[in-house]
Amino acid sequence: MGESRMQTILLIEDDPGDALLIREMLEQQGCKAELVTVERLSAGISFLQQHSCDVVLLDMNLPDSSGLSTMTRLLDAVPATPIIVLTGLSDESFGVDAVKSGAQDYLIKGDIDGRILKRAMFYAVERKKLEIALKQTRDLFERQARIDYLTGIYNRLMFSELLEAEQQRARRYDTELSLIMFDLDHFKNVNDSYGHNIGDHVLKEAAQLILDNIRSHDILSRWGGEEFMVLTPKSDQNQAGILAEKLRCLIEAHDFGDGLHVTASFGVTQLKTDDRADSFTARADQAMYLAKQNGRNRIELR
Ligand SMILES: [Mg+2]
Repeated sequence: MGESRMQTILLIEDDPGDALLIREMLEQQGCKAELVTVERLSAGISFLQQHSCDVVLLDMNLPDSSGLSTMTRLLDAVPATPIIVLTGLSDESFGVDAVKSGAQDYLIKGDIDGRILKRAMFYAVERKKLEIALKQTRDLFERQARIDYLTGIYNRLMFSELLEAEQQRARRYDTELSLIMFDLDHFKNVNDSYGHNIGDHVLKEAAQLILDNIRSHDILSRWGGEEFMVLTPKSDQNQAGILAEKLRCLIEAHDFGDGLHVTASFGVTQLKTDDRADSFTARADQAMYLAKQNGRNRIELR
């Protein structure tokens, strides 16, 4: 069984008799892991923060903590460590609550033997591994749903959500909100002449260049292909226009590698009272289109 690989078990238990029983059970089962015993939750947390530990056996009623919060405090401090709660016969319902709140299992004192304990520890470790793997997968999916895979900035879906939120905020606090849309000029030529790898590199580097030169509360996203959006809260059209001009200059001056240069055309607009998300973005798009028509590598306000 898996516990043969266990190195360290932490027992947080203030009753010396109960602690001795656990120790004897583990010894009877031939458990080779080191059993560390502490009497206080604070001591348990500080031990876990400094040492690796395979599993924690936790008495819920300790000198410095009692009830369900004993478990939740421990879990908050060391979310990756499996926890088995030890309850008395009279407070088994605490054990159920503890499992619902993130403990791997509960055992009733006086109703445990070595085999049950051994098996509970084994399953607690395996279940925790699964729980962590599931969380990582979920985090990855959540990230993929809102981040553009190529550039690492927000994708269009996430941008739409943020745009909605910023529009509401601008209306609620009666502040300005402006939108800059830009498109890399003749980008098809970059892909055709240098290949898609270089094209991808240009998109990534352009995104990073912009990200490094906007305020932390400005929102950059990839709108599609070689089109980007910058949402600038608390900026009117003129302020957004100044930012757009700065970004235009940065792109124009940037060496994307081996002397490769690109330019971009910018459309800038400010949120109007009767705007919806689509009318707002459509106006930025029209302004950008105008910048293209008027010779590219320039800015138009609408
Ligand atoms: Mg106790």
